[in-house]
Amino acid sequence: MHARAIRLHVHSLPPGELAALFVPARLAVARACIVCRHVQARLHELQSITKDDKSPVTVGDLAAQAVVARTLADALGSIVLVAEEDARFLGDQANRSHLEAALGAAARAWPGVSDDALLHALDLGRPRHDARPDAFWTLDPIDGTKGFLRGGQYAVCLAFIEHGTPTLAVLACPSLPVAGNPEQPDPVGSTYFACRAGGAFEAAGIAPDAPGRRLSRERDPAAPIRIARSVEKAHSDASITDRLLAEAGVAAASVRIDSQCKYALLASARAEIYLRVPTSPARRELIWDHAAGALIAAEAGITVSDLDGRPLDFSRGRRLEENTGILAARPDLHPRLLDAVRALRPSAA
Ligand code: AMP
Ligand code: MG
Repeated sequence: MHARAIRLHVHSLPPGELAALFVPARLAVARACIVCRHVQARLHELQSITKDDKSPVTVGDLAAQAVVARTLADALGSIVLVAEEDARFLGDQANRSHLEAALGAAARAWPGVSDDALLHALDLGRPRHDARPDAFWTLDPIDGTKGFLRGGQYAVCLAFIEHGTPTLAVLACPSLPVAGNPEQPDPVGSTYFACRAGGAFEAAGIAPDAPGRRLSRERDPAAPIRIARSVEKAHSDASITDRLLAEAGVAAASVRIDSQCKYALLASARAEIYLRVPTSPARRELIWDHAAGALIAAEAGITVSDLDGRPLDFSRGRRLEENTGILAARPDLHPRLLDAVRALRPSAA
């Protein structure tokens, strides 16, 4: 009771202090993009050095996370960062070739980085096992690893969470054009950013100071409807998705794209629906797979919830334990899709 009463008096950062976080957050993400692009351009080389097909993702994830953690900590002092990686894998002598490769990649954005500095950065900000801080950063250094390995779309996703809600987000899409075919990788890429109640912005390229264009919250309900879908079949149930669209009476063209680039498409009015239907009932989404994209889409006028219409609750640890799947859609379509979920739920469950 006492702890609860105290929590109620803890406030979020005032708007000016929150917006000031864009500077280190955009710098951190821009540096991570440099690391990821370096690795993605050397997939085969890394696979053969480490004798491991997935090693480019491992190396890129670790190097990019270290660079983000170091950049945030240098700017902000102490941070809490909830992310997938830590120093254990690279600290193991058996993975020496991965460490060498990660050092080479990290050095593109962090000149002179040493073994010790990299390993230290990977443990920076790691919350105590049982801690549930009220304010923390969450990062997916390479979201859409399958797309990354295919030479396609992926995203670098950083969000600041306060009291269970993302309040600031930077989502870099290093290969997503701001216009043209989103499925076709583009060397310029794009960056999306938003803070709570401050609107969402789109910038061409990945530079930390690239000027942002404010994304309109206005949507034409008569415009054609497109649904952003995973490329990977295991990540969302396509047949239930099709049944939901049919039940809702929505005819939608599909855009297939890996990663939180899907949220970027919704935010920039290049798709109207993102449905993520778990392929197993026990599946709970990881917070870093949604925090940045969900805030950016919401600030661009998209309604974001889980499949039951509940707001996403980022206060429950590493996963969205209280939410099932994702339903993000243009505001006129969201209630229709929610009704369709309710109508199909008994048979879909
Ligand atoms: P996407 O690119 O949208 O298909 O999703 C990429 C994300 O899917 C990754 O970041 C993983 O965390 C997540 N993922 C991995 N396995 C599954 C699964 N079985 N169901 C849902 N998401 C998954
Ligand atoms: Mg991910």
